[in-house]
Amino acid sequence: MALFENNIIKDVYGISEMIAEGCETVNDPFEALRQEVMTCTKCPLHSTRKNVVFGVGNTKADLMFVGEGPGADEDEQGIPFVGRAGQLLTKMIEAMGLSREKVYIANIVKCRPPENRNPFENESMTCIPYLYRQIEYIKPKYIICLGSVAAQNLLRTNVGITKLRGEFVDLNGIKVMPTYHPAYLLRNPNMKKPCWEDLQKVMKEMGLK
Ligand code: URA
Ligand code: SF4
Repeated sequence: MALFENNIIKDVYGISEMIAEGCETVNDPFEALRQEVMTCTKCPLHSTRKNVVFGVGNTKADLMFVGEGPGADEDEQGIPFVGRAGQLLTKMIEAMGLSREKVYIANIVKCRPPENRNPFENESMTCIPYLYRQIEYIKPKYIICLGSVAAQNLLRTNVGITKLRGEFVDLNGIKVMPTYHPAYLLRNPNMKKPCWEDLQKVMKEMGLK
C-alpha cells in the first residue's frame, strides 16, 4: 500500500515537474529568445551554417565577451570560441581569475560566414538585435569586445581597434572595453601584452585585482 501511494506521489510529482518545466520554458524570455535564434533564417548566413551559435555562460554575468562570429569549430559544435582562438580566450578569462561558466560569451553574428570572411553589413545588421536582446536580459556591467568587427558593430563606429582599444566606452551604462581578437593575438603574439593591459583595466574596475 505504501509503495502504491509512493508511486502515485511520484507520478503526481512527475506530472507537476513536467508542467513546471513547460511553464519555465514559456515564461523565460531568454529561453524564448534562444529558441527564436536557433531557427532563424533572417539573413543569408542561415543557408551555409551547420549550427547556430547562440552563446554560452552565465545569464546573470557581470562580464560579457563579444566576438565576431562562429568559425569552423564553433559551427561544428554550436558553441562560441571553442577553436584555437577560443582556447586562447579561455586562457585569457582564466588569467582574469574567472571561468567560462562565470561570464557570458556571444558573437555579433550567430551563424558562420563562409570561409571565415567578415560578416557583411546586411548580415551583422540583421543579427545584432539578437545580441542586444541578450545584453538587455543579462544586463552585464562590463563587456569586452574582441576585435574590430565586434567593436565597430557593437559601438556603431568606424574607428579601428588599434585606436579604440584600452579605453572604456559607455554603452547605455555598460562599460565596454574593446581589445584585440584572440585570433589576431595568435598571429601577433607581441600584441598579447597590450591586450592583457586592457583586461587588467577591466579587472581593476571589477575589483578582481
Ligand atoms: N571567433 C569569434 O569571433 N567568435 C567565435 O565564436 C570563434 C572565433
Ligand atoms: Fe539569423 Fe543571425 Fe543566423 Fe543571420 S546570422 S540567419 S540573422 S541567426
